[in-house]
Amino acid sequence: MTESSRRADAPLARALALASAALDDAPAGLLADFDGTLSPIVADPALARLTDGASGALTALVSRLAVVAIVTGRAPLDARRMTGVPGMLVAGNHGTELLEPDADAPILSPAASSVRAALDEALARLPQVAGVTVEHKGLSAAVHYRNAVDQDATRDRLMGALGRLGDGLELRHGRLSLELRPVGLGDKGVAARTIIKRFGLRGVVVMGDDVTDLDMFAAVAEMRAAGQIRGAIIGVGGGDAEVPPEVAGAADVLLASPADVARLLEALAGIG
Ligand SMILES: [Mg+2]
Repeated sequence: MTESSRRADAPLARALALASAALDDAPAGLLADFDGTLSPIVADPALARLTDGASGALTALVSRLAVVAIVTGRAPLDARRMTGVPGMLVAGNHGTELLEPDADAPILSPAASSVRAALDEALARLPQVAGVTVEHKGLSAAVHYRNAVDQDATRDRLMGALGRLGDGLELRHGRLSLELRPVGLGDKGVAARTIIKRFGLRGVVVMGDDVTDLDMFAAVAEMRAAGQIRGAIIGVGGGDAEVPPEVAGAADVLLASPADVARLLEALAGIG
């Protein structure tokens, strides 16, 4: 082995040491982002697929670990189809939807369900007002008063009717609309904490490449600092692409590309 290839392999060896130690602490789980982590970034996102070698390794890890989860911004069914590995849990739409391994359709995460209930409750308090339309977006809503005769009076009346919003919701003023939006929801940190708690994980490996993964990294770092878990935080570069400096800074170790992630997974699974 040349000196330069030894240097290039150093992050992989370090990632393997950290991840192995974490996964030895059962029950253990692997939480991974999809795009740019398990899959190379491609020009057409619809054509993304697992890096070579990742499929067999993930299949082996599914049977060995308490949970293997994809935590992604994608719709859960898309992520499952693109991954094609049976037995994985998918936390999609930034963790607001959970797709169980054997389920045909995703369900709202516990946190998202309670936000949904609070949102429906708030919208039910609104009076019928001419020129006001409600745009229900599932976990958020926009109440448009653009077409009301007296916009200011209508806005005040709507705000009065909404009153105090339930936990997990906040009110923002849009352009001639009131926006009801979830707070502290829809980030990957909430998803990671939910999964870790649900499976009672002691060992956790988390992998991601982008700023949306930082919440997941922070959740694992905080739980590790509190002595609740043994964790390994693996950042992934995009090969030629720039890694956001925050991602590099928050990770224990930075792998060069999704291809190196596949090599790590194969080593963890004892194959390849
Ligand atoms: Mg990504």
